[in-house]
Amino acid sequence: MPELPDLAILADAFDAALAGRAITEIRVVDPLVLRATPAQAEALVGETLDSVGRRGKLIVLRLRTRDLWAAPMLSGRFGLAVPGAAKPKAAVALRLGGRGGRPRRPAGWLAGAPWLPPDHEPIELRYLDPTRMGKLYVAPTGDPREVPGIPELGPDADGPALTLEAWQARIRRHPGELKALLRNQAFVAGIGNAYSDEILWEARLNPFRRRSSLAAEEVATLFAATRTTLADAIDILRRRVPPTFETQVRDHLKVHLRGGEACARCGATISQVGSREVTSYCRSCQR
Ligand SMILES: [Zn+2]
Repeated sequence: MPELPDLAILADAFDAALAGRAITEIRVVDPLVLRATPAQAEALVGETLDSVGRRGKLIVLRLRTRDLWAAPMLSGRFGLAVPGAAKPKAAVALRLGGRGGRPRRPAGWLAGAPWLPPDHEPIELRYLDPTRMGKLYVAPTGDPREVPGIPELGPDADGPALTLEAWQARIRRHPGELKALLRNQAFVAGIGNAYSDEILWEARLNPFRRRSSLAAEEVATLFAATRTTLADAIDILRRRVPPTFETQVRDHLKVHLRGGEACARCGATISQVGSREVTSYCRSCQR
């Protein structure tokens, strides 16, 4: 399931590749995925994409007169392709035309990226979803109240609004086990099953500890571990993911799904519990 680091890369990369282009065609292969009438879908043609962003575990394509939100859930993936290129069958594909004006040169980590499509050439954005659990929603500009899950979202786990003070204040309102706490999107947005394991390993905290048992310094440690784990993952994924955005890179994780392997920190055997959604942790160094 895509989590904050996966989608942060995607939002940056797609913004650099696609902003300023107009949608010239929409192909809805799997109508279950796009929560819109055929007329609403067709009305997307002609819209210009202003920017691509992320909120929690959702991606937003900000079009000129409406927003298109994507909640990839379990198996939703996005890819970029030259129109006509053979790739896994997409549930929904948006063809975007070339963009004119002065050449765009993205700043930051995307500067000079060789995979960025040339401005004058069309490009296709494909949404793939074998389990069809993910959904795309059309919403008014800047108003995602009707998009399921959005109104309840807490601050983004990597966002500037989430200071240590804000974290301390919010965490008081959320009892229960730490793993469930980190995955609770109303507490902080963007963390799922994989990165909650990673953050707790980094913080040396047992996933089944209750929040009420944490000392003040452990609350601060959990905040610091959240920030560094996500930032480190984003740094790695920037180098590893483009241009194959549909492939989820997870082999850098230190504890998640590594049950039976040696803990990289203390050498003890990593435990793994649960069946459908597993929790991996080190009983020896996570207390
Ligand atoms: Zn360990």
